[in-house]
Amino acid sequence: MRVPFADFSVMHSELQPEINNAITRVVNSNYFIGGEEVSAFERHFADYIGVKHCIGCGNGLDALQLILRAMEIKEGDEVIVPAHTYIATALAVTYAGGTPVYADVEADTYCLDPEKLEKAITPRTKAIILVHIYGQIGRFDRIKAIAEKYNLPVIEDAAQAHGATFDGKKAGSLGVASGFSFYPGKNLGAFGDAGAVTTNDDELAEKVRMIANYGSKVKYQHVVKGVNSRLDPIQAAVLDVKLKKLDIWNARRKEIAAEYKKGLSSIPEVGLPYQTPNTEHVWHIFSILVNDREKVIRELNQDGIQTLIHYPVPMHLHEAYRELKYQKGDFPNAEKIAECEISLPMFYGMTDEQIAYTINAIRRIFE
Ligand SMILES: *Cc1c(COP(=O)(O)O)cnc(C)c1O
Repeated sequence: MRVPFADFSVMHSELQPEINNAITRVVNSNYFIGGEEVSAFERHFADYIGVKHCIGCGNGLDALQLILRAMEIKEGDEVIVPAHTYIATALAVTYAGGTPVYADVEADTYCLDPEKLEKAITPRTKAIILVHIYGQIGRFDRIKAIAEKYNLPVIEDAAQAHGATFDGKKAGSLGVASGFSFYPGKNLGAFGDAGAVTTNDDELAEKVRMIANYGSKVKYQHVVKGVNSRLDPIQAAVLDVKLKKLDIWNARRKEIAAEYKKGLSSIPEVGLPYQTPNTEHVWHIFSILVNDREKVIRELNQDGIQTLIHYPVPMHLHEAYRELKYQKGDFPNAEKIAECEISLPMFYGMTDEQIAYTINAIRRIFE
């Protein structure tokens, strides 16, 4: 048997006629930037998340960067970022002109640790970016209390959390503004790069939209030095079709995660993901933590099971950020995840047989 890490073929074959129609509609419209396809998806996604505004943009990195630019982050400003995330979270801060300051994540949720967050706050701190890593919102209640105490805006990096909830509220509606990615492998993925900002703040929404469109509201009148980061109408049309199925796809991911947990819980050497009580996890990644990672990956690979690592290098040890002068040992939880994490196959269309086969293969390694 072969178990790929992800496979979109079932997802897409079920939607083939609708997706083809949507793409043909865009081609026939003769409209390839902005327009009704983009605004329709923006409206539907805002409704789904439960916010007033959704602004489509080029990708998830841009979404975060646009928010920070709209907040007027400038040189010398610090933005707190979890030490365990994808590099885009930190790069957004850098491109907006600020400095990322890392804080360690919790050993159980892998999300930003509220205590470490509070210790990282300085007079230069201007914002906090929460990353709903692997599809789960961490201890948002405690993070929110700290943010309010220091009067700091919380920005969500919801790139892995389409549909996740905390106390019934969706990721993307909890902070001042949120960045989403629709990279093909995300829970809601386009047929290429795409992203969006969600917010309830009218003024911020208008600013984000203006910055993303070359800093202009009226054609050829440029108020600020903006960028070109627009959601492509073809991607918007595809996303609008796919959005209707997101909850069904997330429900299947939840079933797969439950099977993995049940099948692997008796192996003491395998660290399983923990879920905070009042949250809905959307399992963008099902991670396990093991000590001899290379051996486990090799043996699974020999059995035809493909795995990935998210992510092998913690944020503070990336060469790209050597000027920040962090050292090994600074963020032990992030380092441990970077050293031990394996992401197991997880996709809508994964069969019960593939799940059982993967579980059995892991059990055999530790027998
Ligand atoms: C995917 C991802 C991003 C970046 O999204 P792109 O669309 O690839 O730019 C940012 N943050 C996190 C946590 C991600 O997983």
